[in-house]
Amino acid sequence: METLTKASNRETKPLKVLIIEDHPDQRDLLAIVLGREGYQVATAANGVEALEQLERDNFQIVLSDIMMPRMDGFELIKNIRSNPALKAIYVILITARIQEGDRVRGLDLGADDYITKPFSFSELLARVRVGTRVVKYQRHLEHQTQIDSLTGLFNRRAMEEKFHDEFERAKRYGHPMSVLILDIDNFKAINDTYGHHGGDTALIKIADVLRGKTRQSDFSARFGGEEFVLALPETDQESALQVATKIHDEIKFCTFGKPDRIFRLTVSIGVSSTSEKSYSDWRQMLDAADQALYLAKNRGKDRVESWVAEKKAEVNLPPAHP
Ligand code: GH3
Ligand code: MG
Ligand code: MG
Ligand code: MG
Repeated sequence: METLTKASNRETKPLKVLIIEDHPDQRDLLAIVLGREGYQVATAANGVEALEQLERDNFQIVLSDIMMPRMDGFELIKNIRSNPALKAIYVILITARIQEGDRVRGLDLGADDYITKPFSFSELLARVRVGTRVVKYQRHLEHQTQIDSLTGLFNRRAMEEKFHDEFERAKRYGHPMSVLILDIDNFKAINDTYGHHGGDTALIKIADVLRGKTRQSDFSARFGGEEFVLALPETDQESALQVATKIHDEIKFCTFGKPDRIFRLTVSIGVSSTSEKSYSDWRQMLDAADQALYLAKNRGKDRVESWVAEKKAEVNLPPAHP
């Protein structure tokens, strides 16, 4: 599950820098200097090699010479900026010439900064540190837009994006994938009895249960007010039902509220899986889990139901997410 733990790992992991320079001695020297500062460094001898590496691995900073055989620095920047997967990379150009025109052209094509040869290593490192700050701040902002502030789980928007990616990956490789939708039973009454704050603390504790019951590859999100979605890559329906049952049971035995005013609650969970039916997109699969959730509510709440063809007929209420 990629929630806060993984996100904070991401914060502290050394940034990956790709050095692109056709002169072997200079290339090696730059690699040594940056490696000594704790960056994870790789090198390429020209733009063509660089693009191959950038597409294969996840780099955050590029330090590129301009004059190179096969593909020069200008062409490389154009390629980086026109590729959605590479677009956000911080690019520092190394300009050998004193011509202002090169620097202007590089910046206009999308370079973030430049450094002019000959340069001191302290200046080079200072410029890479600026890049590091920019990359980290961007990550921080991106993280903020993905996280539900109350529970620390992914929010709905982030969930939809990740769900889409995982679903397409599972489909491409023919691997199973499952999804759970969890809805707290009678939550309105809990709010009415224990106050909105009491309700909020329950939401936080349920998020903790979800975090604790899932694997690294799973991801959980707060989908709406008192609804959570858990996506389980590489998981068929049978295993997903086991996960759902564990979560259901653990929440049932949790206590919520203040010590002098303890309460309990139950949840209903709907499960769907690509191992039961082939879905054309992730929304269809989520709809199926939603139908299973409706079935669980109809059958008296406090239970887990999965989507199977013969149960579908029983679901005659409108879906929870029209
Ligand atoms: P059911 O068993 O059918 O799911 O009934 P329910 O009462 O849980 O469902 P309903 O959709 O009628 O009510 C959901 C309630 O969730 C209404 C709202 O007050 C509460 N809620 C939504 N978001 C929040 C939140 O962020 N904090 C708190 N404390 N309550 C919330
Ligand atoms: Mg050169
Ligand atoms: Mg609800
Ligand atoms: Mg509810």
